[in-house]
Amino acid sequence: MLFGRKRKNPIKIADKQIKEWKYTTCGYCSAGCSMEIGLNAEGHPVSSRGVSGADVNRGKLCIKGIFEHELFTSAGRGEQPLMRGRTFDEYQPAGWESALDHMASEIGRLQSAHGHDSFAVVSTGQLLTEEFYTLGKLVRGVIGTNNYDGNTTLCMASAVSGYKRSFGSDGPPGCYDDFEHTECLLAFGSNLPEQHPVIYWRLKEALEKRKFPVIVIDPRVTMFAQFADIHLPITPGTDLALLNSFAHVILEEGLEDRDYLDAFTTKGNDFERILEDYDPVTVAKICGIDEDTIRTVARLYARAGAAMSIWTMGINQSTHGSDGVAAINNLNLLTGNVGQPGGGGLSITGQCNAMGTREWSSCSGLPGYRALENEEHRNEVADFWGIDPNFFPAKRGLTETDIFPAIETGQIKGLWLVATNPLTSMPNTDRIRRTLEKLDFLVVQDAYSDVETTQYAHMYLPAAMWSEKEGCFTNTERRISLVNKITEPPGIAKPDHWIFSALAQRFEQGRKIKFPGKASDIFDEMKQLSKGRLLDISGLDHDVIERERGVQWPCPEGEAVSANPRRLYADGKFQHADGKAKLITLPFVDNNEMPDTDFPFWLNSGRVVEHFHTRTKTGKIGNLNKFSPTPYMEMNPDAARELDVGHMKYVRLVSKRGDAVVMVQLTHRVPNNMVFIPFHFYDCVNRLTLGLLDPHSRQPAFKQCAVRIEPVAQDVAARANVEARAF
Ligand code: SF4
Repeated sequence: MLFGRKRKNPIKIADKQIKEWKYTTCGYCSAGCSMEIGLNAEGHPVSSRGVSGADVNRGKLCIKGIFEHELFTSAGRGEQPLMRGRTFDEYQPAGWESALDHMASEIGRLQSAHGHDSFAVVSTGQLLTEEFYTLGKLVRGVIGTNNYDGNTTLCMASAVSGYKRSFGSDGPPGCYDDFEHTECLLAFGSNLPEQHPVIYWRLKEALEKRKFPVIVIDPRVTMFAQFADIHLPITPGTDLALLNSFAHVILEEGLEDRDYLDAFTTKGNDFERILEDYDPVTVAKICGIDEDTIRTVARLYARAGAAMSIWTMGINQSTHGSDGVAAINNLNLLTGNVGQPGGGGLSITGQCNAMGTREWSSCSGLPGYRALENEEHRNEVADFWGIDPNFFPAKRGLTETDIFPAIETGQIKGLWLVATNPLTSMPNTDRIRRTLEKLDFLVVQDAYSDVETTQYAHMYLPAAMWSEKEGCFTNTERRISLVNKITEPPGIAKPDHWIFSALAQRFEQGRKIKFPGKASDIFDEMKQLSKGRLLDISGLDHDVIERERGVQWPCPEGEAVSANPRRLYADGKFQHADGKAKLITLPFVDNNEMPDTDFPFWLNSGRVVEHFHTRTKTGKIGNLNKFSPTPYMEMNPDAARELDVGHMKYVRLVSKRGDAVVMVQLTHRVPNNMVFIPFHFYDCVNRLTLGLLDPHSRQPAFKQCAVRIEPVAQDVAARANVEARAF
């Protein structure tokens, strides 16, 4: 008789008859994995695999990447433009000529009647960099509205703002290679194994070679927290107080790098005096971490030869997200870690090309990390594009989170959404729904015609997605990688840059500016504009980027690709006018909505590994959706017992904004005064969220609000859940 493994049938991998593998880059998260798509004899994409020679992923892919080829045939794709009148009659199919003529005429009508800024544009972090640059040229140089932003305001605006305040420019200083050199890793509000599995694998690989302490700061016992050496289950929204306390201990015990501080930094008024208020005894009562642990972590970090910090939404999505990022930068400056191998900060970005929009879309400024507020920058770009610099505003306009309130007040009449889905992604769904209903003209441009926001649009424009076109993404560590065209888009859907260029031709100013048709020609323009800038890419082109399987910027002309610096600011030269970094004074103000007797639970939200953002793509992939098909709520078993709530039963969650029905999963991952819901699902967690805004970045505090739990009829809830999933 045979026992154990020998009795099992061997796993058989189906032969998909692949005839050719084509190189591209994953279009989901910002890890930036290089991959190949397998095509069969008919040229159909049938498989995905990681590229072994690529530095980022070294052959690995996570579950989303493994099934990414299935996106090409996923349901719900838009195949032709759709239009309807202001009374929301049935959509009628249209050709590109008539759709874009109508769109240009509606933009002109609104701008003539209500001013240029009455038409707003909100884009995404998922286009190709060349497309972001083209959209910026269209919006800033042709349409001329200042109310233009990307949905990256919902995820990375606080990181951008914090970097600018501390270092004088956006741009993450660190890289994945730092895991190989660090002696201490501090992770804030980041569930790396689920959010960015391949970056987590890089960390694991480094740890297998050489042990160093991993400290995770998160209110929830996430997968990452379970793997950490020290977990600090912090009270939501109090990370700034904790970071100030780390700085307090470092200065009190003389652990700072005085030589580094004297040579490379300036400091804000009362910097040390304000930090005196954050002694560990006081802060322990604010953030729920005992004073000894605060001291231990501060000492570990300061005494390590090299120490690094990574963070995600736990820091950024907060009323003081920008301050939190600046406080992480303070910590790394105080300890002399910025720019050192294994040291400094690395914000882990969300979307595949959130970095591309930050660098080149002109949302918050002008291309190449230029500022609208800087006259020299306005002149440089206007000269390059061949337009009058006075066409540019001298100050940034509204962010995405301020555009929606401006629609409510009637200041904004028209909106163009490009590859973003605010009905699911923005806080306070009911308010967003009412806001969209107020618009005179709403255009949704997306690869999927069934994206929820299309219900409220007057026009839908079908876009090619990901590897149905060619261009670049920039990943979390500033690495530019090439996305190659694998297949044609469905129907008459077009690449986003084609749509932007074609719309530009309908405006007088658009006929004065060049809009190259090929992605490589657009990249050439960006190269020229990048010369001498922090993000200099003048030494690159598409061929070099593909050959190298991705290259980190800066990479100036004339320098070998292999010689480019892996980290920013290694020489201590920062982007502020005086060349120094700033230690910023950061008093902590606790203005969150807090649990009380009526709403006794913290509501926390985050991601699961199978889904990406609002599930526009992953909700269509059976192999992903089957693992996580429905919204659920993590609840502590002790709290559940008190309220007589059972595992896998439905409950109604209520906040001051609205309610949502969810299925309960009992787990000790959350404390007994907190519940957690994945944020991917339509009509779920964001029906409840408040989304107070950070004053610097205007990013919403998705993770800090209060709810209560009510019983709900199980049969009604189950039926509603099935209907919602059938949408
Ligand atoms: Fe794609 Fe991110 Fe997964 Fe890599 S880790 S395969 S980039 S989703």
